[in-house]
Amino acid sequence: MELHCEKNEISYILESGLHEWKRDSSHTVFLEEEGLKIPRIWAPTLRKVGSPLTIILAAGLHLEETSGSHLLLSPSLFRETRGKGFNLLIYPVINQSGLKYPREADEKLLRYSRGYNLNTGWGLSCPKAPEVAIVEKDLKTFVSSARKKPILFISLHEDSEYPPRGYIFTNGLSAEKIRALSQRIEQKIAKSMLAKASELPYKGTGSVQKGYIIAEDQDPGSMENWINDSFGIPAILIEAPYGASLQDRISFHQNLINAAIKIISS
Ligand SMILES: [Zn+2]
Repeated sequence: MELHCEKNEISYILESGLHEWKRDSSHTVFLEEEGLKIPRIWAPTLRKVGSPLTIILAAGLHLEETSGSHLLLSPSLFRETRGKGFNLLIYPVINQSGLKYPREADEKLLRYSRGYNLNTGWGLSCPKAPEVAIVEKDLKTFVSSARKKPILFISLHEDSEYPPRGYIFTNGLSAEKIRALSQRIEQKIAKSMLAKASELPYKGTGSVQKGYIIAEDQDPGSMENWINDSFGIPAILIEAPYGASLQDRISFHQNLINAAIKIISS
């Protein structure tokens, strides 16, 4: 019997994106475990400086939120950052279950692997998605063997509940850095794309910046919370405006990544 499969749009660009990275002086590998193949890219700085700084980027935890993986599979959009002396460690698509699945299966596979939401269980000793355990192990090895601790972690999402505006969560940023980031966001991103703090029914425990929403928050079990807690690396989760065009969502991520790098490294 023929198996009818749903293929996520990212499955069509994964191979060519990884190929492009390789052609752009980067190393791509697959973390192969439990029948999964999770791609990882090491994109070293293009400017030889004494001691380059490293930034970690991740996307594709929730595969209906496609713009993050599109961006992370577009090496040309990171040449400028690499040219400024930054190394990038990239997980362009972590969720493997939602890349291709039987049509009869639950579309929850876009967000869940073996029954577990991909952005839960990080750093907790509890049952979790196999992808979470595999990337956790890889990141622990990377950070413990790195000559210099990475300066920033950024996770790319989209908020499908409050379209079409975006916002960010931070973990471990000082009030001063949050203020600076907020100012930069207002300069770089169209107001129509940004959620106001008053528009979202924010239920977290952290503090919310007035105006455009940046919430400093603890969400135990999330990837960003784990990375900040375990390694002391500041973390940012970007929720791009779901429902906006792909180009606008990619630009939203790109503008915020550039703003965050500038603020953290200054
Ligand atoms: Zn998400």
